[in-house]
Amino acid sequence: MKSNKQSLPDKNGFFGDYGGKFVPETLMYALEQLESTYNNLKDDENFKKQFYKDLSEFVGRPSPLYFAKRLTNHYGTGSIWFKREDLNHTGAHKINNTVGQILLAKHMGKKRIIAETGAGQHGVATAAVAARLGLECHIYMGAEDIQRQSPNVYRIKLLGAQIHSVDSGSATLKDALNEALRDWVTNVDDTYYIIGSVTGPHPYPMIVRDFNSVVGEELISQSQNLFNKMPDAIVACVGGGSNAMGAFYPFININETRLIGVEAGGEGVQTGEHAAPLNDGTPGVLHGALSYLMQDNSGQVKDTKSVSAGLDYPGVGPEHSWLKDSGRAEYVAVTDDEALKAFHEVSELEGIIPALETAHALAYLDVLMKEFDSNSNIIVNVSGRGDKDINTVAEIDGIKF
Ligand SMILES: *Cc1c(COP(=O)(O)O)cnc(C)c1O
Repeated sequence: MKSNKQSLPDKNGFFGDYGGKFVPETLMYALEQLESTYNNLKDDENFKKQFYKDLSEFVGRPSPLYFAKRLTNHYGTGSIWFKREDLNHTGAHKINNTVGQILLAKHMGKKRIIAETGAGQHGVATAAVAARLGLECHIYMGAEDIQRQSPNVYRIKLLGAQIHSVDSGSATLKDALNEALRDWVTNVDDTYYIIGSVTGPHPYPMIVRDFNSVVGEELISQSQNLFNKMPDAIVACVGGGSNAMGAFYPFININETRLIGVEAGGEGVQTGEHAAPLNDGTPGVLHGALSYLMQDNSGQVKDTKSVSAGLDYPGVGPEHSWLKDSGRAEYVAVTDDEALKAFHEVSELEGIIPALETAHALAYLDVLMKEFDSNSNIIVNVSGRGDKDINTVAEIDGIKF
């Protein structure tokens, strides 16, 4: 949680043109309360001590930076390193943020926790930290995602949280977020909303980024130790954008490191059947923030398509929109098929089954490694493990257990 020189967002929650707080009156007070609580706590020594203690003892941080030897040999140029967020407790980077936000909830005296979830990883991570503190927990999840991520649904239940199935719209992450916001508007007095990505109204994109920045902070010292310089590139998948933002943020002023976000190209960006707003979207407001968005000419949010539930979202965190326009980060997309190929390849070459979300970042190495020589170091943020996805992949591969 080190503060960055550029110090965005500004005091109104904007990253350049993007971000802000486009919410009903009833939430303004709650957001202001959250912001002032966070601003008071983020530099508090006891708060920081507790946060890093929990990251160490509950999550298992720091996560290793691991040399992917056979994948490196497969491409034959440059060294590929995996940031092993898949080894975190509950299996993804999501827990970094929930460990931080539950401390804010506790400090604010909130008794009831709510969250939305797509792939279920944020639901599991939220249910886990709520259980640990004995707080009531409700998880909103699209009916479509409940079906394709059934192992995580059961994990959430085992952790003592209640699942609320959301049938509206496309019954995926966007709709779950709508329902969670609706719950929050109704129960704002006793309820803390742990949002799962760098999305939503200010101050959430800032808070979620800061808690996930532990990833980038570790990468700076691990790069120094393992290859004695800064990486040439960091590659991360982008749904809402929290794992990418956490890895990118501490590097924003380290110009020798290229920052590359990989969106879900679904059937292909040119088909319109995808979840890649930074590649094929226009600025618009969704879930309380202005950012690139998949919308039609009248501003209606378009349906998304991705094999990966965690990337299946028509919007993206506002800081990514700013990084795109400023040129500091690059945003590309890979298709479902390319991600599935990488899922299998990396499982067989490295003995690591990546999440389908992560497989998008890995798939882009096919293009990216051609741009680097053998002295280069490329880091892929392995945002999570693929155990939750094996039913989806088995079905696609026509395998029955
Ligand atoms: C949720 C999730 C993502 C996508 O969310 P971001 O906020 O874009 O990081 C990526 N990978 C995994 C494993 C996830 O669980």
